[in-house]
Amino acid sequence: MGKLDGRVVIVTGGARGQGEQEARLFAAEGARVVIGDVLDDQGEALAKELGGDVARFVHLDVSQEADWTAAVGAAKDAFGKIDGLVNNAGILRFNELVSTPLEEFQQVIQVNQIGCFLGIRTVAPEIEAAGGGTIVNTASYTAMTGMAYVGAYAATKHAILGLTRVAAMELAAKNIRVNAVCPGAVDTPMTNPAQLDPTADPTEAQEAVAELYKKLVPLGRIGKPEEVAALALFLTGDDSAYITGQPFVIDGGWLAGVSIV
Ligand code: NAD
Repeated sequence: MGKLDGRVVIVTGGARGQGEQEARLFAAEGARVVIGDVLDDQGEALAKELGGDVARFVHLDVSQEADWTAAVGAAKDAFGKIDGLVNNAGILRFNELVSTPLEEFQQVIQVNQIGCFLGIRTVAPEIEAAGGGTIVNTASYTAMTGMAYVGAYAATKHAILGLTRVAAMELAAKNIRVNAVCPGAVDTPMTNPAQLDPTADPTEAQEAVAELYKKLVPLGRIGKPEEVAALALFLTGDDSAYITGQPFVIDGGWLAGVSIV
């Protein structure tokens, strides 16, 4: 028996990183998974690897209303219903607030915040029609505290907790639970030092990052995307049946307190 036997779950940003691990774990736990992403080749390859009876890829830019309508149609055509959503897609931009162009700030809101809103608005009625289910939104530790130079990102992640709480209240009577994961630093392409600083030597940059997290994080390391997937599984499955409207920090203890050594 898998923890998600019989469920159909859409995972946005499911082509790589945390979303990929969520798609893999959910499929292993008996769900049929619809992988939505703008990375068509990677998403298609993952769906193919998992198998057509278990997974489908749909091109889904979460900031686009029409893409959501098409994705829901494709999911229902493939698997007949939808009873879960993981709003995982997100983008990160580094900038000082006073230097951030309006277009950049709006782009981050469009993907992270409006993408999450559109997902809830489009998919919740389908989950209700299926008899109930779950929505897991992906916030961040930057939803719980400030972080310099990621102002647009942190603002949207705070907003995702607001969306999570309101959606949980409004959808509870429809038997839909809504929670949020708040990862700390997780080892995915988003945090890849080579991507953050293309001029840096990749090996040295990796070592510097490992050293940084050893100091910053009580558990002494960066998180693994599989660990976030395990939390998303808990919040999607029945083990969390009495939990809704809550943020769940998964950060190796980073936010537990300030270190002076
Ligand atoms: P990632 O960059 O590896 O994956 C993000 C995925 O979202 C990619 O597949 C990307 O193509 C997709 N995506 C981007 N824009 C999209 C759009 N408009 N429509 C659909 N898909 C889109 O990063 P990740 O670390 O796996 O991030 C997953 C989520 O976790 C994000 O919401 C991110 O903000 C959040 N998060 C990550 C970390 C971390 O340290 N990696 C920490 C906290 C929160």
